[in-house]
Amino acid sequence: QKKIVIIGAGVVGCSTAYYLNKMGQRDVTVIEQGPLFETGGSTSHAPGLVFQVSFSKVLTTLASQTVETFKSLSTDAQRSFYSVGSLEVAHTSDRLEDLKRKAGVASSWGIDAFVLSPEECCEKSPLINRDNIYGGLYVPSDGIAKPLNAVDQMTSFSKSCDTKFYGNTEVTNIEVVDGQVKAVETSAGKFEADLIICCAGFWGPHIGEMVGVTIPLQPMAHQYVFTNELEELAEEEEEVTMPLIRQQDSSIYFRQVFNGLGIGSYQHRPLPVELNEITKYGEAKEMPSVKAFTPEDFEKPWQDATEFIPSLKQAGIKKGINGIFSFTPDGMPLLGESQKVRGFWVAEAIWVTHSAGVARQMAEWIVNGAPTVDLELCDINRFDTYAQSPDYYKPRSIENYEKVYDIHHPSMPPETSRNIRVSPYYMRQKTLGAYFNEKNGWEQPQWYEANDSLVSVYEKTILKRKGWAAKYWSPIIEAEQLHTRQHIGLYDVTATKKRLEIKGDGVVEFLQQLTTSNIDIPIGHAINTLMLHELAGIKDEIKVIRKATSAFHVLCTGPVEASWIQKQLSASSQVVIQDVTAETCSLCVIGLKAKEMLQSLDSDVFVENKWTSQSAKELLIGNIPVLAVYNSYAGMDSWELSTTNDQGLQLWDLLFETGRPYKLIAAGDRALEALRIESFTLRSSKDFWSEHDPYEIGLDHMIDLNKPTFIGRKALIDRKEKGPKLILVTLILDNPTVVVMGYEPVFSKEKVVGFVTSAGYSYSLGKGIVYALLFPENVNEEATLDVEYFGKTYTAQVMKDSTVVI
Ligand code: FAD
Repeated sequence: QKKIVIIGAGVVGCSTAYYLNKMGQRDVTVIEQGPLFETGGSTSHAPGLVFQVSFSKVLTTLASQTVETFKSLSTDAQRSFYSVGSLEVAHTSDRLEDLKRKAGVASSWGIDAFVLSPEECCEKSPLINRDNIYGGLYVPSDGIAKPLNAVDQMTSFSKSCDTKFYGNTEVTNIEVVDGQVKAVETSAGKFEADLIICCAGFWGPHIGEMVGVTIPLQPMAHQYVFTNELEELAEEEEEVTMPLIRQQDSSIYFRQVFNGLGIGSYQHRPLPVELNEITKYGEAKEMPSVKAFTPEDFEKPWQDATEFIPSLKQAGIKKGINGIFSFTPDGMPLLGESQKVRGFWVAEAIWVTHSAGVARQMAEWIVNGAPTVDLELCDINRFDTYAQSPDYYKPRSIENYEKVYDIHHPSMPPETSRNIRVSPYYMRQKTLGAYFNEKNGWEQPQWYEANDSLVSVYEKTILKRKGWAAKYWSPIIEAEQLHTRQHIGLYDVTATKKRLEIKGDGVVEFLQQLTTSNIDIPIGHAINTLMLHELAGIKDEIKVIRKATSAFHVLCTGPVEASWIQKQLSASSQVVIQDVTAETCSLCVIGLKAKEMLQSLDSDVFVENKWTSQSAKELLIGNIPVLAVYNSYAGMDSWELSTTNDQGLQLWDLLFETGRPYKLIAAGDRALEALRIESFTLRSSKDFWSEHDPYEIGLDHMIDLNKPTFIGRKALIDRKEKGPKLILVTLILDNPTVVVMGYEPVFSKEKVVGFVTSAGYSYSLGKGIVYALLFPENVNEEATLDVEYFGKTYTAQVMKDSTVVI
């Protein structure tokens, strides 16, 4: 039993206490600065619309778990959830296309969703004006949550499990000893704690400051109005019977509130709020989370609303608020234990929609050591140091607010907080006309306009893309992919991995415990291996390079994985982990002519037969110290050459000059991704994540069960015995002109049997290929499956012997 203190009794704090109690924790205390349970936080006035489906799998799962919880709590006497369904209405053809794509991901994530005609939309909601409607998306299982009723029901249960709730008690400080939380200091005294969970809503940053942890969220004011009675609803006795509606092309949403409507708007200018502007409970007439309504910001949304629901004109607005809630730089919640302070957990920036799902996963994470849903994208440790600056996260969070109802293309670059991290090659890349996107703060070239002339060279082969697939795309990407196959591409891979130096006494034992393979390899060798969490889900696929007897260089996917590695280190360990990402830069030389070119630099070092996929050598290229790691990529040689930032530019220039006779080009990240997919190479976090075990993904070759111990070993043996829940396969699309984008549903005889992870085009096969996670019973090599893309289905075959590479 852990001594757990939760800060905040909004829907998130109360749901978390509920799930901790359900999982047997009996020493839980909840501390709230406002009165219980209408605390004055965002939950107190949340209208509770629950639209479950989003393009994010994790958010959709958290939402459907919330619906499940709220429905299970709901009684006739006290409703926690009204299953009235939801309708998203398209007023443009682009929006309708987006809704078709959304219906596809709904199927992928296991939720029923139907694309409706304009007439069917009006049948579902007779209030709306048929004019200018292109169609809609209907999700029957969506509805209205009543968070305060759910809180009441959940807290009754928690109190029966001895949880104590303290209202009107403000947390003023947190005591930390040797990097571990010890107690919470409050206006009513001190509460000892092994573990603190910060569920303080938009006040979270203030609590984070008490322990030196940045909680990168921006409180935003958001407009919500109540209308007077509508003629059509005059007879209504129930609070809600009609579906909730989104009219995203005007950035507004609607719900019924007895005889009137509640209308929310994201259309207004952004209204960020600073924490020091927020009143304390009792200091003002309104709750702390409500600011005065600014009617001028609601003029245009109201005009749009009355055109869409004409009877609103007659009804008029009864009252409005500018309510406050949290936005983050990537639109995702902030969850988990901070790497900086042991025992300091956060559950922040969470909508009512995801609240109980988050709470369930947090409880599993705390009690079992890992959640069952992969929460990497929500992990509080996903932000590197640069992203913890308000200069970064405030503008980006505001941008997210403004774009919340926009049509989001997965390749759309963000506009704010750019040019923060650049590799030493940046100026050369700009000169070559690089089109940049951002990843982990780095500017990453997607393709180079300088390669435009290659489009005509490869014109006959290049697959032309249309519609959605042609957005944020250029035929240059395909030309770079094809040119690499025939000649050489030079790829900047500085931003693709986190790089750690791990060394010291006991380092071999530490890494053995962390990984599934025997990493006691010779110096100058490399191995790809897996890290599992306690429940045998794949935490990451990493590359371990041995540089000396007690020194390793490790490449992992990102900050979350790096912080997880750090967390496994015991306080008494002699092992030291140093993050060298910022001071290292890397170039990948890939292509048919790569070996010949590098041999021209140093024929002794780059001679044939000396390099295998286990090779990793420290060498000098000219006067540049380089760590060279060999790989075979898309059937071609590839070397990743890393050096320190000070000599990075020199390496670029040297390789460029040497490569000239071999037709070397600088090529972008999109061509590299296309080559990865074409060469059946899987990517951690994209094709598999911590919900999957290595047997499901076909990564058995990375498991050495002869190793007596490693994290997740016992659970792995159990999972192996139980057999896979999903398995990863390669599918080839029959129609050679079709490419899909990822996350599309896969059907067998009109039944959903899985979904696409990565998708691309194989020039060697002349067809689109996808990786898909499917239910094992549907993986029949003879079977024809269907991949749905924007409402159309395309037949695909399971590829025989699709060797998975990693
Ligand atoms: P809160 O409810 O704010 O709870 C945090 C609690 O922590 C507060 O009670 C606060 O008093 C307490 N606290 C803070 N600091 C301290 C301290 N130092 N000591 C003790 N206690 C402290 N979401 C949806 O899903 N659907 C919607 O339709 C929807 N509509 C919305 C409309 C509006 C106008 C607004 C403002 C929000 C809306 N939201 C909606 C968002 C949703 O309301 C919030 O995201 C959610 O309620 C947050 O819950 P919470 O428990 O994290 O935060």
